[in-house]
Amino acid sequence: MGNGIALFGGTFDPIHHGHLIVARAVVEQLGYARVVLIPAPNPPHKVGRELTDATHRLEMARRAVEGEPRFDVSDIELRRPGLSYTILTVEAFRREVGPDVPLAWIIGGDSLPELHSWYRIGELVDACRIVTAVRAGYETPDLSALRRTLAPEQVDRLCRDILPTPVIEISATDIRRRVHDGESIRYLVPESVRAYIHDHNLYK
Ligand code: ATP
Repeated sequence: MGNGIALFGGTFDPIHHGHLIVARAVVEQLGYARVVLIPAPNPPHKVGRELTDATHRLEMARRAVEGEPRFDVSDIELRRPGLSYTILTVEAFRREVGPDVPLAWIIGGDSLPELHSWYRIGELVDACRIVTAVRAGYETPDLSALRRTLAPEQVDRLCRDILPTPVIEISATDIRRRVHDGESIRYLVPESVRAYIHDHNLYK
């Protein structure tokens, strides 16, 4: 196992087994030492959507990985004011771990064609490996906007880092709806997360 770190940002409202299974698959396939889940308080692509208080989302992520040595949670984006731009987070990790530790940033296949709109994307692609976790049989979408924004060599790298992983049909949106409607979320989220949601009366 190398010393690489895979960073996985998201709203995690709430974190669920779909996220955790993907994170596990990526870190194992890359041969990295660990994955760090990073809840985003103000994701730029979800401006306008009402999110659960970030401290709740952070605490649920912490409980989800409790006792798992290869999984960590970072509050780095909660400690930074303003929008949760990925490049700022990756730069902060780079400063912390030094130049030699491989860093990856995990995204879902739905985010790949949108990457061209990410803040300072050209620098982000050079600052870490962007790993796109996709279901088997995924067809690479139209990347023309990305090709207009990035150098051909950068797009090639992104395409090489498309990684087939198990993608389980669980969505945070559906979990919130189920809690709201009084339906069970057992088996969709870790038991500790289910208890936290219940104890704090979230998503009612
Ligand atoms: P919402 O339903 O609230 O929009 P989401 O899970 O799509 O939630 P995030 O919590 O921000 O949104 O997800 C973080 C990352 O995890 C995203 O890149 C998303 O594509 C990916 N992801 C979400 N659900 C799954 C799943 N079931 N399997 C694999 N990846 C997932």
